[in-house]
Amino acid sequence: MKRIVLLGPPGAGKGTQADVICEKYSVPHVSTGNILREAVSNKTPLGVKAKTFMDAGNLVPDDLVIDLIRERLTKEDCEKSGFLLDGFPRTIDQAVALDKLLEEISRPLTHVVDIDVSDEILIERIAGRAQEGSGRSDDNAEVAANRLKVYHEQTAPVSAHYKEAGNLSEVDGTGSVEEVSTRILNIINS
Ligand code: AMP
Repeated sequence: MKRIVLLGPPGAGKGTQADVICEKYSVPHVSTGNILREAVSNKTPLGVKAKTFMDAGNLVPDDLVIDLIRERLTKEDCEKSGFLLDGFPRTIDQAVALDKLLEEISRPLTHVVDIDVSDEILIERIAGRAQEGSGRSDDNAEVAANRLKVYHEQTAPVSAHYKEAGNLSEVDGTGSVEEVSTRILNIINS
């Protein structure tokens, strides 16, 4: 059974790659971004709290996302089929909380894959996505730049956390979607 964390900066293609992997291994795709966007559009208490952070490209407070992940990962589908986490953990405190939760339920991660893309390429991609109008309210140039800054300050250290734990696999995120998914699938197959 696969229990995967997919790491990488905004614009690295995590969502697209997550879809490929989840289809191939029939694991639930757990995206905190998707769950939060749904909460915002349904105006749930969580959505109301999260919206201003998301619109500015800032991280939603740890306790909110940790609670939602705890709830999601202990659902039957994840217990039965594993999971792929996309967009979580995004801070060291989230990574530590995840370690603790998975230890509690005796379900350690099987793979942590970090998609590596240079800032130069990311900025080009993000600008393109903003211009095409992805429909995401956090996809304009200014907010995208902040998302990248937040990534470097708060999320990049998460990779080091897993590197220290000895289970980080780094993947070159440049090239076509297929090239990148082949690299990722090679790791997950092993
Ligand atoms: P994403 O779709 O993963 O890029 O997430 C979109 C936005 O949701 C982010 O810019 C954050 O505001 C929020 N978000 C998603 N995942 C997390 C997380 N693990 N921790 C804090 N905020 C998050």
